[in-house]
Amino acid sequence: MKFEELAEKIQEKNPAIDINEIRRAYQYALEAHEGQIRKSGEPYINHPMATAYKLASMHMDQPTIMAGLLHDVPEDTKKNIKDIKKDFGNEIAQLVDGVTKLGYVKYRGIEKYIENLRKMFIAMAKDIRVIVIKFADRTHNLETLAFLPPNKQLRIAQESLEIYAPIANRLGMGEIKGKLEDLSFPYILPEEYQWLQDKIIVRTQEKRKSLQKFINALQKDLTKNHIDFYSIHGRSKHLYSLYNKLLAHNRDITKIYDLVAIRIIVPTVSVCYECLGIVHQFCKPLKGRIKDYIAQPKPNGYQSLHTTVFTSAGDIVEIQIRTKDMHYEAEYGIAAHWDYKEKKTNYSDKLDWVNELSKTFKEYTGSEKKFLETVKLDIFQNRIYVFTPKGDVIELPEDATPIDFAYAIHTDIGHNCTGAKINDQISSLSAKLKSGDVVDIFTDKKRGGPSEDWLSFVKTNSAKKHIKIFFRKNRSNKLAKLLKIED
Ligand code: MN
Repeated sequence: MKFEELAEKIQEKNPAIDINEIRRAYQYALEAHEGQIRKSGEPYINHPMATAYKLASMHMDQPTIMAGLLHDVPEDTKKNIKDIKKDFGNEIAQLVDGVTKLGYVKYRGIEKYIENLRKMFIAMAKDIRVIVIKFADRTHNLETLAFLPPNKQLRIAQESLEIYAPIANRLGMGEIKGKLEDLSFPYILPEEYQWLQDKIIVRTQEKRKSLQKFINALQKDLTKNHIDFYSIHGRSKHLYSLYNKLLAHNRDITKIYDLVAIRIIVPTVSVCYECLGIVHQFCKPLKGRIKDYIAQPKPNGYQSLHTTVFTSAGDIVEIQIRTKDMHYEAEYGIAAHWDYKEKKTNYSDKLDWVNELSKTFKEYTGSEKKFLETVKLDIFQNRIYVFTPKGDVIELPEDATPIDFAYAIHTDIGHNCTGAKINDQISSLSAKLKSGDVVDIFTDKKRGGPSEDWLSFVKTNSAKKHIKIFFRKNRSNKLAKLLKIED
């Protein structure tokens, strides 16, 4: 890749960036990696260049793109992190250092896995941009994985699938998650991958013509009804998520309705709903398949309207309607929320779980295996959104209870919780909450603290922790009183 290509991408996505600074980082990396060749036979500089290019495509800021160019310098060249700090300043040096540290992390069985997650979350809590650089770096490594020996291929693919992809998902980075999974898939399950490829190619070729006809007709109809839209196009599903869906449907591809989806990008939220109305007049929707992720976003922040319709040719097609902002967010999640001026994300309430986990990691001292189970629940479990009576949103893991909810609001509300109403119905404290529930908690200060049996049903680490701490303190207080009496 030529420098001009990168410069052009940056100009397109973020014209405020100083290209001279980017060029300086590029020259620095070029000299440092001079003479180094990648396994693919290309000059080494192509790798940091590809990384920086991906970061530019994600609209990342200047320090992040520069750190992307420099990310392998301390590990693989004569220049170290101190040199980078001297030449590029603290911010960029810290980003590079974070990426380098993550680089030491390798997938080697369960204990190492925990160690990996630990490092990753501590780095993420410090500066979320580190993980974004790592994603770009890893994506390019996967793209060039064919040149590595088979044992390394498997290790890197596994690590990407089991660690990086779920984290990308939790950060709402759908495009990155899909890429990490699809690039790893052929190395982990080669035969399954081939089987799917064969199946998909036949299926999509069968459908391509009739789908294009449908898109054209729909486009005309939207125009006729004065619906303003930027684009309408077909998109095929990411292979690995399709594979998982197929497994859930006994490998019957005719059951997958969103094999190819049509995506309509419109200017505003109200046009989204107008557009949905026109679509439903144009073709019949399938019962039970209309999803309003705008009013009720997915836990990772995803927003769109989804509907599945019958086309005039008798096919079943999913249609997704969203604004430009929603589209960008769906592709790049956390990266879409980076505030260039404030140098922080305005996504921070959605990152509470990162800080929470990072703390848990730092404080934990017990058995690794048990820990993995609890942490896995927190990261990989689906999340739900529950509302307070005032309409504030509380994010919780699936199957969380009113007690989890109470502790998520405030420790004292948890400790003093005496009852709960879910959607205006009195309910038990161990009831399982669902997305969209409105939860009202009753408290009484005379309650005097939590029940120990709450531990048998609460789902969040934070509720567990607060209950345990309460009883630990209580016991030592009792003990102290007892000792005083005996004195
Ligand atoms: Mn690298």
